[in-house]
Order: sequence, then C-alpha cells, then structure tokens
Amino acid sequence: MLREDGQTGDYGPIVIMFISLIRNTGVKRLAFAILIFLLIGSILNIAVAWGCVLWSPLSSPGVLADYPEYRAGVSGLPDDHAIMTARSSGFGIARFTFTWHVPAESHAIWHIRAGWPCEALAGQIDVEGEIAGALVTPRWLEGMVDKPERRPLPITPLAGGFAINTGLWALLLALLILGPGRVKRFNRKRSDRCIACGYDLSGAAHARCPECGGLVHADGVTVSSKSPDHSPVE
Ligand SMILES: [Zn+2]
Repeated sequence: MLREDGQTGDYGPIVIMFISLIRNTGVKRLAFAILIFLLIGSILNIAVAWGCVLWSPLSSPGVLADYPEYRAGVSGLPDDHAIMTARSSGFGIARFTFTWHVPAESHAIWHIRAGWPCEALAGQIDVEGEIAGALVTPRWLEGMVDKPERRPLPITPLAGGFAINTGLWALLLALLILGPGRVKRFNRKRSDRCIACGYDLSGAAHARCPECGGLVHADGVTVSSKSPDHSPVE
C-alpha cells in the first residue's frame, strides 16, 4: 500500500515496480524477464483477439456503401468493379463485408479485424470458403461457439495494434505477478521498516530485525528473512 502521508504519492505502482526491479535485479535478468513477459503478452493478445472473434456478438451490418479506405490490405478485390462495403462490429472485432458483381453472379468477402484494446490481427474469408491470412475455426471449437456464420481466426498481425496490445497485456501481467510484493517492500524500506516483516526499525541502529531476525544491511533496511539466527542485536 502507498503511505498516507503522500511521500510516495507521486509514484504510480508501475514506477515503483520498475525502480525496485532495476535496483534488485541484474540487467541481464531484467531483460530476460521483460522478454518472457512480452512473449506471454503476445500469446494473451492473440487469445483475446480470437476470443473476441469466436464469442463476441456482431451488430447487424450497416448500410452498404463504397468505402475505399477499407479496401487496403484486403486481397482479391477487383479494381474494375464497383464494390460495396458494410461494416458490422462487436466487442474487439470488426467485420467488413465486401460485395461486388460480375456477370451472372455476385461475390462477397468478409474481412475480419480483431483484438482488444486495439485491432491486432486481420484475416479474410470469401463466401465460397476460401480463406486468406486466417485459420479455419477447428471443429471441436466450433461446437462451443453458437454463431450463425463461419468466423475465421485471423493470423495476420496489424503491426501497430499488435505491438500496443502485447505491451499492455505484458505490463498487466507483470503488475499482477510482481506488483503487490514490490510495492509493499519499497514502501517498508522508505518508512524504515523491516522489509521482511514490517517491524518498525526507526529510532535505533539495528544489525538484525528484533522481530524476525533478518539481517539489516548498511544501505538501509535490506533484510534477509532467511536468517537462522533469531537473536536480536542492538
Ligand atoms: Zn523483520
């Protein structure tokens, strides 16, 4: 918890966590930890995007109109036909329906973008079932998804959104795993208390914490709680 006197009020928990991480961890270990968190963050990012694709309900498509800006990045759209686009969206997913007519038949492509909070992955499927930049939803999963139409799982990363989401999910994960303990120890150290047990060490110099027997180092109150010796030293 942050102290109520406002001394640490300027620091967000994130800043406290990183100050503490850099002080207590080597640069190599820190880089490795960041890499691992980013890796898990990217997996979370993909899982969230696919979850949005599979389970988010889509609004009914809007009015068909020609939106040239939506054409970018969609393959298989003929330039010489008038193409009408409709957009439907749900939580973390947007679907664009492109339709155009050739003599005797009409064609349609669904282009799906998904991810939260940013759109991170894209994929498309045409009505005949040809899929580009996407995976077909596996059959065992399709049974768990109650939806009237096929939704391919997009696998083409959208660079900006993918990076932002991965960073955010990694940061959230790091805060959940490392945050509470780091913030607690940081605040105990600042307020002259034993890092291991919270005992108030102010007022006199201690070689060991009188409460838990942890070693008190010269740089403040860095305490090893794993001390076998519990005799207090004044
Ligand atoms: Zn202690």
